[in-house]
Amino acid sequence: MMPMCHIEKFKKIIMKKTKVVHRKLGKEQALGLAYKEDKEIHLDERMVGKEYLTTAIHELLHIHLPKFSEKQVDLLSRKLGNDLWNLKIRRVDEG
Ligand SMILES: [Zn+2]
Repeated sequence: MMPMCHIEKFKKIIMKKTKVVHRKLGKEQALGLAYKEDKEIHLDERMVGKEYLTTAIHELLHIHLPKFSEKQVDLLSRKLGNDLWNLKIRRVDEG
């Protein structure tokens, strides 16, 4: 079998569906968590607005860009959160 090229590895990583779990993250003392191997993120269900948006981006960046450092993810998620918020991107309650 031919070795996978860089873009094929990247596609394999990002094509797997990311599972999102909303729950209270009290004892973890975090607003969000990312489980890279399982492609699963947990978001504190009490968050709203820009905090929710930025935290969701943060945890998704950990999943999709696993080599980024915590500081890189933190800076980029704040930047993208601000940009998307300014574009009026909002969470829609599907309930
Ligand atoms: Zn993080």
